[in-house]
Amino acid sequence: MARMKLPRASRSKASPRVTSDGHVCLVCGRAIRGAADVWVHLLTTLELASVDEPIDESRESQGWFPVGPECARRIPAAFRTSGGD
Ligand SMILES: [Zn+2]
Repeated sequence: MARMKLPRASRSKASPRVTSDGHVCLVCGRAIRGAADVWVHLLTTLELASVDEPIDESRESQGWFPVGPECARRIPAAFRTSGGD
């Protein structure tokens, strides 16, 4: 069962949300330009689950959230969907 703490940007105001303008990075809270192609699975513990881990969606999961390309580099491949690396 692989988990890791959600990395936080130094000036993070991150809260999981999607605006009408498009996707917002879960880590740094900045808007993601273009299509979000890296996603992470956020748990209620504010940890990330590895993408191949089956999660009880109703109990532990907050769902999948997009991460911008900059922040995606700080997240091991096992914990994110593969975007353009
Ligand atoms: Zn970011």
